[in-house]
This record gives sequence, structure tokens and C-alpha cells, in this order.
Amino acid sequence: MSKRDYYEVLGVEKGASDQEIKKAYRRLAMKFHPDRNPDDETAKARFQEASEAYEVLSDEEKRSAYDRFGHQGVDGMGGMGGGAGGGFGGGSFSDIFGDVFGDIFGGGGGGRGRGGPQRGSDLRYTLEIDLEQAVRGTTAKIKIPTLVACEPCDGSGAKPGSKPVTCATCGGVGQVRMQQGFFSVQQTCPACHGKGKTISDPCSSCHGQGRVEETKTLSVKVPPGVDTGDRIRLAGEGEAGADGGPAGDLYVQMAVKAHPIFERDGKHLYCEVPISIADAALGGELEVPTLDGRVKLKIPAETQTGKLFRLRGKGIKPVRGGAVGDLLCRVVVETPVNLNKKQKELLEEFQRSLEGDSHSPRRKSWFDGVKDFFDDLKI
Ligand SMILES: [Zn+2]
Ligand SMILES: [Zn+2]
Repeated sequence: MSKRDYYEVLGVEKGASDQEIKKAYRRLAMKFHPDRNPDDETAKARFQEASEAYEVLSDEEKRSAYDRFGHQGVDGMGGMGGGAGGGFGGGSFSDIFGDVFGDIFGGGGGGRGRGGPQRGSDLRYTLEIDLEQAVRGTTAKIKIPTLVACEPCDGSGAKPGSKPVTCATCGGVGQVRMQQGFFSVQQTCPACHGKGKTISDPCSSCHGQGRVEETKTLSVKVPPGVDTGDRIRLAGEGEAGADGGPAGDLYVQMAVKAHPIFERDGKHLYCEVPISIADAALGGELEVPTLDGRVKLKIPAETQTGKLFRLRGKGIKPVRGGAVGDLLCRVVVETPVNLNKKQKELLEEFQRSLEGDSHSPRRKSWFDGVKDFFDDLKI
């Protein structure tokens, strides 16, 4: 199954602004929305395709991953919690939906249930961790402001002892039909805000909302091997549902901080190791850092800048299983600085000792190339 380019799907340029992307998605979503194209499989597919493109391109992190690695960069992001946590599953989708359609379909409740208890919103939390924590796993304490069910009224919003009554405006359905332009839309009932019930005697703790704001402290177990963009789903730790409905989920999104020495690419690690001219020429043994401490690396004689040395199994064990990655050390020959008089003389003497081109094959071929270039120009 080959996927179309997300920018192409939305019909925008690669460098499009967030606003342009949102606008493009909105236009496509309006056109292909299943509610407006009942039983049209093509429209449904186009709608899903656009939604997927929008989910990636509207998220700074995912967009940059996509720009760098294409579909591979964003496929399979998340999904460690199982169920709805995978890929472009339920929860996060309704979030975008509410965001983009909020002003058209009347509030976050627009695409959801009709009346009665509603499931709480999913929450997203970005957890910043060090590379070491990402590699070894960690347990992080996070504080999130969220809505929890009100205790005194047990989430109903009605004063303890009383009960909500059926809404007179919508007859308990929670939705009313409204003419908007040339098409009619289902709208949330303005009297009961979609609940289908009204409260005559509201609970004094939550003022009839059934939910109160609270800062929750949660402990999140981060498995070893996670990478930026991975999500951990904590079922039922999102916002409490309205009117005693089930709580949403909390998605904890990983953001691995840059490391001063190592650069990560999936399961592999890269680092640069400076070496002296003498070590490079004569060969030697270097100490290089790994995440488990220092190891010795043998450098052969005549090593040039840019040479990569692979230390197998010194990378990262991927969170989804599979072989441990490698550590790739790129050596960089360092020009000596702060030389004293004696050292400079030695180096000059050394320079004079070099005869012919045999000591610098690369330099020789470079000069030959330059000569050919100018010879060609004369013709
Ligand atoms: Zn109503
Ligand atoms: Zn209450």
C-alpha cells in the first residue's frame, strides 16, 4: 500500500504555514466529510487520508520527522499502550476534529454522542527525558491539570438528593436541527448543551458541571528504548466524562532531549571522536564513550578524517524489540593548535622530510582533478 505525499494530499507547498495547512484540511474535510457524503466510500477514503495528513503536518514534531524521513518517519509512532493508542486511532482524532470544526458544529461535543453521559476528552502531555532515561527506561512523575468527577454529586451536577430532569427544548435528545446557509446541520441543544437533561438544583461544589478542575500527579513508567514521538497511553487518566460518563485517556508523548555527545538515529548512536595527527598517521588506541562507559577503540595507521568505526551492539535496544543498534564513531583529525617554537620547527622539519606525492594521495588526486578542470576549460 503506497501512500500519497501528505503535502500533496492537502494540496499545499512543502513550506506551508500552519494556517495554510489548517485551511487546506478544513476545505477538504468539509468537502469529503462522511456526514455530507453518506455511503460514498471514495469520499470517506479521501477524508481519512486528509485527516491523517493533517494530524502529521499540524504537529511540529511529526511534521519534522515526516520532512526528514517521509512516511517511515511517522508510521508506527505511538501505539505502545495498545488499543486506541495505535497510529491515528480514535482519541487524538476527535481532538483535531473538535479543534477544526469547533466553530462550525458547535463545541467539542459536536462529533460525539447525542445526549446522555459523554466520554471525557483525551489529554496529551509531552514528557521531556534525557537520552539515558530513554535508553534505560525510567519512572517519571507528571503533574497534569485535568477535570475529575465531582465527589459530592458523584459527577451528576445535581445537588445531592436531587436529580437532573429531561430537557424541554430538545426532549432529551441533546441535539436540535438548525438551518445554516443552504444545508441543515444537527446542533447541540443550546438549553442543555447536549446533555439532554437540565439541572434545576445544581450542586454547589461544581456549580452543576459535575466535574471540577484538579491537578493530578501521575507516575508514568517509561519502558527502555523509547524515542521522540512515541506515545504511552494511560487509559482512563484523561478528563472525567460529563454527567458521570467514562473518563478519556491520557497520551504521554515522549520528547528525548539532545545529548551533548551522542546523536540518535532510531536504534543507532553516532558520535564524533577527535584524534591527533600522530594517532591518525601511526594508528593507536582511543577511549571512546558509550552509554555504558568507556571502551577502547583501535585506530589503524593512516586513518583519515570522516572514517566511521562501528561498535556493534553499543547502540539502543528498540522499545518494540529487535536487535540492539550500533554505536558509530566518526573520527575527525584535529589540527594541533598553540604550538611553541620548538614544535613548529619540528613540524617544518617533518614537512621538509616529505618527498613527492606519495604521502598525500588524496591531495595529489585533488590537484590532478583541478589541473584537468582547467585543461578542459581551454578547449
Ligand atoms: Zn436540550
Ligand atoms: Zn458536584
